[in-house]
Amino acid sequence: MIEIDVLSLELDDLKRELSAIGEKPFRAAQIYKWLHVKRAADFESMTDISAALRKKLSEMFAFEHIRPVRVLESSSDGTVKILYELPDGNHVETVLMSYEHGDSLCVSTQAGCKMGCRFCASTIAGFKRNLEPNEILGQLYETERVTGRKVSSIVLMGIGEPLDNFDNVVKFLKILESKDGANMSLRHVSLSTCGLVDRIYDLAELDFGLTLSISLHSPYDEKRSELMPVNRKYHIPELIRACRDYFEKTGRRISFEYALIDGENDSRSDAEALVKLLKGMPAHINVIPVNKIAERSYRSDRVSARNFAKLLNSMGANATVRRTLGADINAACGQLRREYEK
Ligand code: SAH
Repeated sequence: MIEIDVLSLELDDLKRELSAIGEKPFRAAQIYKWLHVKRAADFESMTDISAALRKKLSEMFAFEHIRPVRVLESSSDGTVKILYELPDGNHVETVLMSYEHGDSLCVSTQAGCKMGCRFCASTIAGFKRNLEPNEILGQLYETERVTGRKVSSIVLMGIGEPLDNFDNVVKFLKILESKDGANMSLRHVSLSTCGLVDRIYDLAELDFGLTLSISLHSPYDEKRSELMPVNRKYHIPELIRACRDYFEKTGRRISFEYALIDGENDSRSDAEALVKLLKGMPAHINVIPVNKIAERSYRSDRVSARNFAKLLNSMGANATVRRTLGADINAACGQLRREYEK
């Protein structure tokens, strides 16, 4: 049996595991603090825990670290992109971005992706495996350690489809928000999904208060199915119904990602259909000029993105253009990992 990593345990799990070997709950709280607040690198450094218990802990749990193998820092805007090696040799990318309101971290949730979006570099080499909670959390802890910077918000927008790794992502979020642990309010977290409708309903039930981001990219089923195969399973009307339900349950405005692609989804009628689709729902549209990837000829630029956003706004929508960060270090997701693994 594979041992569970100690960083993947919620405080209650740790209490249960320790009480099974006759330890008091306060010990679990002490260890949890070493892990998530003091960020101990190993059991050895937990100096107020007895040597005998430290030894027992190391027999009960794995305590492995993801390892930065490439660190690229943008010379223009403070963006740092890190390629992490997982304990089994797989790789994921993490990007630290600097904004006026603080540093935001983009984390990966899977090694590779099954979703097959046509314009996305992360999915081309296929899917390897889900990340464990400790490997998602590790991207935060290691990045803060490596860069010496403090992360104030997190976006689950790196490699992978977070809702396709639902249980581990939920566990990660619970540890992240735990008062005795990393203590980050989930109001500072955004989760981006290609639209796994069933899981959107499940997420709404949990009422985490996080921002749901939907990768929409077209208001038309036919075009969206061509760009995003997931749309063949969950059509746009179903997806929008799930978004409305999410808003009603959580009161959180939904964010829609729209990667603009020349000649694919950038016409006036696309804009009109998009505005009509989202009518009456508190929504924000994020227009992003599509990032070039080697395998596809998709193109766009900032001027077109700005014009498209303007057009949407003139029709009464709430749209902005996503700032481009780390252009000099190829910060678009999935590309560094692919280069490295080649
Ligand atoms: N699987 C999730 C999260 C990871 S992708 C999702 O689909 O939302 C993060 C965002 O980057 C998504 O909006 C995705 O559609 C977008 N994206 C992927 N490749 C892109 C590219 N080449 N240019 C612009 N945006 C891209």
